[in-house]
Amino acid sequence: MKRRNFIKNAALSSAGLVVGGSMVGCVENPSEENKTELVAPTTKASLPMVIATWHVIDATAKAMEVLQAGGNALDAVEQGCRVEEANEKGQSVGKGGLPDRDGNVTLDACIMDKHGNCGSVVYLQNITHAVSVARKVMENTPHVMLAGEGAKQFAISEGFKPEDLLTEASKEAWEKWKVESKYKPIINIENHDTIGMLAIDKNGDISGACTTSGLAYKLGGRVGDSPIIGSGLFVDNEIGACVATGLGEEVVKTVGSFLVVELIRQGKTPQEACEEAISRIVNKPNSNFTDFQVGYIAVNKKGETGSYAIHQWFSMTKFQDGKNEQIQSDFFNKV
Ligand code: ASP
Repeated sequence: MKRRNFIKNAALSSAGLVVGGSMVGCVENPSEENKTELVAPTTKASLPMVIATWHVIDATAKAMEVLQAGGNALDAVEQGCRVEEANEKGQSVGKGGLPDRDGNVTLDACIMDKHGNCGSVVYLQNITHAVSVARKVMENTPHVMLAGEGAKQFAISEGFKPEDLLTEASKEAWEKWKVESKYKPIINIENHDTIGMLAIDKNGDISGACTTSGLAYKLGGRVGDSPIIGSGLFVDNEIGACVATGLGEEVVKTVGSFLVVELIRQGKTPQEACEEAISRIVNKPNSNFTDFQVGYIAVNKKGETGSYAIHQWFSMTKFQDGKNEQIQSDFFNKV
């Protein structure tokens, strides 16, 4: 979902928009009409619970439905991510995802369970539910990652139906981009909204998943952080979990999600761990962090959550204690 639409939708949403902690700065402020209450970061948590990147209350509602019916966290994150993959209006995942600069929609996704098992698909074409293919890789093959044509053929052999993922709206956006961009390989900081989801079920077990069409208008063949275990997603059932969104190249360089979970292991809260992982990116010598965004959401074994981003408006959706709400994150904006 484009960030500007996302802000507008936040105002229209039936779910509350909650602003966490103290703001360091704001590039795109929600308008006056969107103004909302400030609340302290989560200190008390209850299970089951689910969090996701961005404003995806339908997806978290689906995941919670699975959890409340007694389902496990793995089923919950898969089912939740599928909601956004099927949503053609969301132009950052699954069907309707914005294509690369050659007009090809290529998907990356991964999933990780409470045992540390994981599966991933990279540069997958023509299959909407990349997260489910990732799960099949985890469960039905001896491998962790499948890429490109091999991933597609595997999906078809598992019963997934190939289809054209480029919708009219995404094709139009791409054609407009081609004209305006003069076909230069510009990394676009506007259209990158991976859906990452973390859940803890009633048994206290954690799973996570993420799914994306990657950066809009990327170079053909480009792969981001989202299918890379440890970068786009990491789950350690004894400690917690983290999932990333934003410019994948920067997440990969710092092995971001693994870093966040390790920092939680060392005693940091999920919020502190997300902030430290962001600081590793922005404090690099010659970091050009004003040109891109990275955001992390994380949860610890107790169900306490954190989220933090670089310099732009960012949020997570949290379904916990009977409330399904969008929570605006703190973000780093020192220049
Ligand atoms: N992290 C994704 C990537 O770099 C982009 C996104 O968050 O949408 O492919």
